[in-house]
Amino acid sequence: MTERTLSMIKPDGVSKNVIGDVIRRFEAANLKVIAIQMRTLTKKEAEGFYAVHRERGFFSSLVTFMSSGPLVALVLEGEGAILKNRSLMGATDPKQAEAGSIRADLAGSIEENIVHGSDSKESADFEIPYFFSQLALNG
Ligand code: ATP
Ligand code: MG
Repeated sequence: MTERTLSMIKPDGVSKNVIGDVIRRFEAANLKVIAIQMRTLTKKEAEGFYAVHRERGFFSSLVTFMSSGPLVALVLEGEGAILKNRSLMGATDPKQAEAGSIRADLAGSIEENIVHGSDSKESADFEIPYFFSQLALNG
């Protein structure tokens, strides 16, 4: 099934200069970039995005990290895009991530792990409109 998923290249990925490396992996896996935006989130915006994690011990550190500099939000479209993106990303902790995955190759820690990806259709349906208006999704 053709799906859409929300990806982010987090502030560590932007500062490490690997935007192109990450997008190349998406394209090589047949995921199409249909919308793209660079911005720096306020703390409030980062809190709203990660609201499902607000009770977790790492929440305030995560929000500080995610609002620390520019990130790139993307909408990826393709066959099975949600799971395909998760598998390209690798496990949350780069030490556990599959060889050849984005996090195994590029991430420094469980928090600064280069990319985000929607983990379900329900998450994608919340996360895509968090960044992109209907009009931005026509491409
Ligand atoms: P994401 O939601 O960013 O795609 P994920 O689904 O692999 O990542 P989640 O469990 O949803 O992982 O955690 C969200 C983010 O919170 C992680 O990507 C990471 O940046 C941070 N995080 C998760 N677990 C920890 C932890 N134990 N310590 C510090 N930060 C963490
Ligand atoms: Mg998650």
